[in-house]
Amino acid sequence: MTDRDSRHKASMEKLKAHVDEKVANATEQRGLLLINTGNGKGKTTAAWGTVTRALGYGYRVGVVQFIKGLWECGERNRLEDDSNLEVAIMATGFTWDTQNREEDTRACAEVWQSAAKMLADPDVYLVVLDEITYMLKFGYLDIDTVKKALENRPHEQTVVITGRNAHRELIDMADTVTEMQEVRHAFNNGIQARRGIDY
Ligand code: ATP
Ligand code: MG
Repeated sequence: MTDRDSRHKASMEKLKAHVDEKVANATEQRGLLLINTGNGKGKTTAAWGTVTRALGYGYRVGVVQFIKGLWECGERNRLEDDSNLEVAIMATGFTWDTQNREEDTRACAEVWQSAAKMLADPDVYLVVLDEITYMLKFGYLDIDTVKKALENRPHEQTVVITGRNAHRELIDMADTVTEMQEVRHAFNNGIQARRGIDY
C-alpha cells in the first residue's frame, strides 16, 4: 500500500465512524417539516421530486399550488393519473398580473380549505404547500392558522413548504431547511423559461 493509499484508508475509517455514530443517534421516527426557500432555482422542482419519491412507495400525497397554476406544470401532467395524488390549485385570484387583494384573499382561503383537510388526514403521507410563503407575505393567509395546522398534523405526515422569504416562525419550526442560492439564472440574461425544464 502506498502512503497515499494508507492515508486514504485511515481517513475513510474515520469518516465511517462519524457516519455510523450519526446513524446510531438518529432514532426518532416521525413525519418532517421541510422548507425549500431562497432565491435560486429548484424549490418547486425538489418538492415534486419528493412527491414522486413518496408516490413510488404507494403513499398518498397532497399538493396545494398557492399561485394560480404558474403556467403549466409538467410534473402535474405526468402524475395526475396516480389515484394516490390529489392536487388542489388556487382557482382564481393571485397571479402576478391581477393582484386584487380582496379576490386573492378569497381564493387563498378557499384553497387553504383543501390544504387544511390534507393536513388533518392521517392517510396523507406527504403534503406539499407550493409557494405558500407568498400568501403569508401578502397577508392573504394568517401565520397562526398555518402554524396551528402544521403543529396538529398527524405524527407520520411530512410537509414540504416552498417559496422565497419563508416566514421566520416557519423556519424555526422546520426540521430541514434548504436555501437555494442563486449563483446565476438564465432568465436574467434574457433567456425564456423553458417548457419541461422550468415548468
Ligand atoms: P423551479 O420551479 O424551477 O424549481 P423555484 O420553485 O425554485 O423554481 P420560483 O420562484 O417558484 O422558483 O420560480 C418560478 C419560475 O421562475 C420557474 O419557472 C423557475 O424556473 C423560475 N425561476 C426560479 N428561480 C429564478 C430566478 N432566480 N430568477 C428568475 N426566474 C427564476
Ligand atoms: Mg416554485
